[in-house]
Amino acid sequence: MFDTLSDRLAATFKSLRGKGRLSEEDIDATCREIRIALLEADVALAAVRPFVAAVKERALGAEVSQALNPAQQVIKIVNEELIKILGGETRRLRFAKQPPTVIMLAGLQGAGKTTLAGKLGRWLKSNGHAPMLVAADLQRPNAVTQLQVVGERAGVPVYAPEPGNGVGDPVKVARDSIEYARAKQHDVVVIDTAGRLGIDEELMRQAADIRDAVGPQEILFVLDAMIGQDAVTTAQAFLDGVGFDGVVLTKLDGDARGGAALSVAQLTGRQVMFASNGEKLDDFDVFHPDRMASRILGMGDMLSLIEQAEKAFDAQQAEEMAKKLMGGDSFTLDDFLVQMEQIRKMGSLSKIMGMLPGMGEMKQQLNQVDDKEIDRVQAIIRSMTPQERRDPKILNGSRRARIARGSGVHVSAVNNLLERFTEAQKMMKSMGRGGIPGLPGMPGF
Ligand code: GDP
Repeated sequence: MFDTLSDRLAATFKSLRGKGRLSEEDIDATCREIRIALLEADVALAAVRPFVAAVKERALGAEVSQALNPAQQVIKIVNEELIKILGGETRRLRFAKQPPTVIMLAGLQGAGKTTLAGKLGRWLKSNGHAPMLVAADLQRPNAVTQLQVVGERAGVPVYAPEPGNGVGDPVKVARDSIEYARAKQHDVVVIDTAGRLGIDEELMRQAADIRDAVGPQEILFVLDAMIGQDAVTTAQAFLDGVGFDGVVLTKLDGDARGGAALSVAQLTGRQVMFASNGEKLDDFDVFHPDRMASRILGMGDMLSLIEQAEKAFDAQQAEEMAKKLMGGDSFTLDDFLVQMEQIRKMGSLSKIMGMLPGMGEMKQQLNQVDDKEIDRVQAIIRSMTPQERRDPKILNGSRRARIARGSGVHVSAVNNLLERFTEAQKMMKSMGRGGIPGLPGMPGF
């Protein structure tokens, strides 16, 4: 659904790659791009403005991070602001202390309420509840039958007025259903209400009457993500007319731009709680703002790298390492060991290397290094004396054999390590003061 938005944002971030530092103009240009990307995706202007302003302010004020390069830093800020606009923390359903918990669905006709009732019923059931669906949509021909079909498919009982009693009183049905649920020990009741093609007063009044009759723990506003900019006005009308506690976005599998739905949380102050992305019962899940943000950014890997890099990065060690390099001190096997530790903390090597610009050649070299290999290297270095670590040139044949025995490896592994170490040393000398962008403190890699 958010492919265009993802593509545009990715292009924006790409243009920042390789920049050592972002000027105010860079940040301005980036924010302009982000603004266009959001507007083109149909995100409401009222939500775009504060979003872009926040990104800009944070990007301008961002401290020069030691762990992240400027592009990563902007991605991190955009990601955090996206999560915020999408509602921040994942919001869970509230359950009543005294069952049954009542969940009432409201929304326009065709939004996907009936389908959702089935999905929600099945989801509740698989989470250990004993739900029941209630057909309180007595306006639309077939609505009751449709819910019965959905309920059967989901394996969840449906409470409905007697057949033939076509017109009926939805408020009474809803009220009676609660009694019935209590008697039959259903702990959650999901009430499907009538929608209209457009917003009208009668619809709102009926929904409000049902609300007053059953006192739901949760009123969920069901919103078709494909309706574009109308999403915001519709949400506002339901907020004023009936009120709601949470939002369910449906039809996220569609190819419409869908951005309007993304601003609903921000504009109504109600969290999106579930997302529906298909007609099948399983096409449904709890809505996680952070996962959605990462999906929109299309850079799940990059985001976890950023998180890991920030966690693993040891500023003090990095500074010492940098000082050492700049002061021309030699790079010892002890430093090599420290680097190994940092790299291990950052997780999968080749993944990390793939994410850093301009690291192709080294990536190849690093692809040969895995976790076990790091263990081996550590064991070898730890079997050396401090003097040997400082000055590996003294490592003659008998010393190498001793080290191999001490660390439980073949002498060739010791030789191999020393060769690699010499190469790293050379590489560092040739890099001089620069270091590697985005991976400070690991000049050997
Ligand atoms: P209601 O009038 O609000 O009860 O809406 P329905 O549940 O009857 O859904 C209207 C139409 O949208 C039906 O054809 C559903 O199959 C379809 N629908 C519901 N949810 C989704 C969804 O997440 N994705 C897609 N592609 N279709 C959906």
